[in-house]
Amino acid sequence: MVLSSVLGFPRIGANREVKKAVEAYWANKLSADELTKAAADVKKASWTSLKERGVDLIPSGDFTLYDHVLDHSAAFNVIPKRYLGKGLSPLDVYFAMGRGRQADGVDVPACEMKKWFDSNYHFVVPEFSEETEFKLNFNKALEEYREAKDLGINTRPVVLGPVTFLALGKAAKEARPGFQPISLLPQLIPIYKQLLAALKEAGAESVQIDEPILVLDSASLYEKQFAQAYAELAPVSPKLVLTTYYGRLDSNVTFVAKLPVAALHIDLDRAPAQLDEVIAAVKSTNLVLSLGVVSGRNIWKTDFQAALKLGQKAVDALGKDRVIIASSSSLLHTPVSLAAETKLTPEQKDWFAFALEKASEISVIASALSGSQDPKVAEAVEANRVSIAKRREFERNSDATVRNRVAAITPDMLERKSPFSVRKEIQQKQLQLPKFPTTTIGSFPQTKEIRQARAKLNKGELSQEEYEKFIEKEIENVVRFQERIGLDLLVHGEPERNDMVQYFGEQLEGFVFTQNGWVQSYGSRYVRPPIIVSDVSRPKPMTVRWSSYAQSLTSKPMKGMLTGPVTILNWSFPRADVSRELQCKQLALALRDEVIDLEKAGIKAVQVDEPALREGLPLRKADWDAYLGWALPSFKIATAGVTDALQTHSHFCYSDFDDIFPSIQALDADVISIEASKSDLKLLNTFKHYGYSNQIGPGVYDIHSPRVPSEEEIKERIAAMLTTLPGELLFVNPDCGLKTRGWAETEASLVNLVNAARWARQTY
Ligand code: GLN
Ligand code: ZN
Repeated sequence: MVLSSVLGFPRIGANREVKKAVEAYWANKLSADELTKAAADVKKASWTSLKERGVDLIPSGDFTLYDHVLDHSAAFNVIPKRYLGKGLSPLDVYFAMGRGRQADGVDVPACEMKKWFDSNYHFVVPEFSEETEFKLNFNKALEEYREAKDLGINTRPVVLGPVTFLALGKAAKEARPGFQPISLLPQLIPIYKQLLAALKEAGAESVQIDEPILVLDSASLYEKQFAQAYAELAPVSPKLVLTTYYGRLDSNVTFVAKLPVAALHIDLDRAPAQLDEVIAAVKSTNLVLSLGVVSGRNIWKTDFQAALKLGQKAVDALGKDRVIIASSSSLLHTPVSLAAETKLTPEQKDWFAFALEKASEISVIASALSGSQDPKVAEAVEANRVSIAKRREFERNSDATVRNRVAAITPDMLERKSPFSVRKEIQQKQLQLPKFPTTTIGSFPQTKEIRQARAKLNKGELSQEEYEKFIEKEIENVVRFQERIGLDLLVHGEPERNDMVQYFGEQLEGFVFTQNGWVQSYGSRYVRPPIIVSDVSRPKPMTVRWSSYAQSLTSKPMKGMLTGPVTILNWSFPRADVSRELQCKQLALALRDEVIDLEKAGIKAVQVDEPALREGLPLRKADWDAYLGWALPSFKIATAGVTDALQTHSHFCYSDFDDIFPSIQALDADVISIEASKSDLKLLNTFKHYGYSNQIGPGVYDIHSPRVPSEEEIKERIAAMLTTLPGELLFVNPDCGLKTRGWAETEASLVNLVNAARWARQTY
């Protein structure tokens, strides 16, 4: 029998129950017990619906209130000392690590967050040192396994693998120089043994052990560690299903196939071409092969014919009992269910499959491969054939104007007229910014009132005109606020935007939207990625009205604010029928027109955000050039259509710049702002290494947490930056936009920021 399996499920709940409960707990409106109960209800609903949909191997232990890596760190006692001894409950220590805590005399920043592989999901980076004392504070996998079992559902527990856990971690500040987390493996293994043995004893037949690190180039460095770890774990564990996802194993398959595990999972959505090689590597072993044929990363219906072909190939080579059909990765990157969508047309709805629909797909594909005689299976296969054919027909429509414009892009469209040194003078003449200019990244708090006004507009309770009046008022408040506290380069605050990608998607041709398609970004932050379904173009200006209005209110310069082409692409669900390059260039041309229109409207600085440029980098270095070969030009197409006088800004939400820095420089933006505050300014080493010639604002405080940075802290950061960066290039700004913050902390933080910049002007 070919079994079906799902590697992980969205944690939010069909109606965002978990997000709401977690936030209510933070606001002291829900007790810890009530939070546990809300989580239990969602887990139960997920397990039950996966079972109803015929999934054989249902995951448990993948659920989380904030982040599954953070859960793992907390369970294994990988808790930095700064969170302990403060009188916090374990749950509050956990949340403090995730989001910082500033209340009742406790003041600790959050741990560093990083993007999870090439996705927009952020994980909390574990911190290790020689002092790390692993122990099992609690066995989450076991607890959830039992929780499901009590409901009559036999699950396959999910555990983050030891090598990936260490490899994704970082050396804590107090670790000795050169300390490598992976050196802790011998101490870590006994704790895993304890965890896995307990699962075995509780009756778990198999355990999913996630080692996604195996799809990275760096995994080959850990061959010995993998061998050592799994040789010790296998004898005491339930059957181990080693899962890899988001990419291909490449040569790592040689040692992976020799590990003493029962099954190996590979991602055939991202890397279908690896199937032959993997089959060849496992054929002579007893390994079961789990085929990730249903995408965990996209929302398009799976083409059953293609999936069945891959599955059949594995069945022919290995036999039905050695093949599992699965989601390519956890389904955490997809929304819960299409059932909640009432505004998509029936035609559109028929194109998609969200997590629950994917579960059904997986079970049908597995049944079909098993040779099931159930007429429902044949019906589902036939229905899928019809749906896919209809979608292909729709996809044949293209917009000739847009296609021709992309084909006609010339190299000169990518370059500014003069070099930065010339532009800088011209720009400074019209902007008149002081030394160490202060600015923000764009958004100001998206308050309840703003969200309510938008909701009312959508329900027809507010007219377009009333809504626009409301937005104007918000913009005015933000402008006055910035003037009052003394910021130099102003922004309009983005109150009109529901989301930095969705907002643009809604104004461009070629997108469709969901009402409830929430996907986790970090903690309780969820986004609703738009879906690109056809060629993209800009029917009319998108932001000019708001930016001009904001500029009309003040004599200080106003920065226009756009989301870049690469980020719009990476934070949308892209089409699968044409290349990402084509989609990105179509977006770039639309944005180019917008930047030109902003300049024509009298705006003197425009920021084009590319926070997602890096996360789109392929996981394998060999694939980088291909990606950068269209991603960088797309940004340049969007920003180079203006005169020398327009100051272009860009913003990047990451601090790990080591390898991508030359690419960022190649964008030739006049000013970049980057996230820097949580990474102990390791960025400075990057500058030392490469040098930087254009202007730059490394973020001086972390905006992912409500904590207010002190003036002193900000001064220290500025001083540290000035050890490496020339003063005339430095901007002073927060790490990122302020939309998730409240006004009180925003005001307090920015006042400190402005004061610190004033201090710097006097000191340097
Ligand atoms: N301009 C956006 C904002 O301020 C940038 C957000 C981001 O980088 N993620 O919200
Ligand atoms: Zn950002």
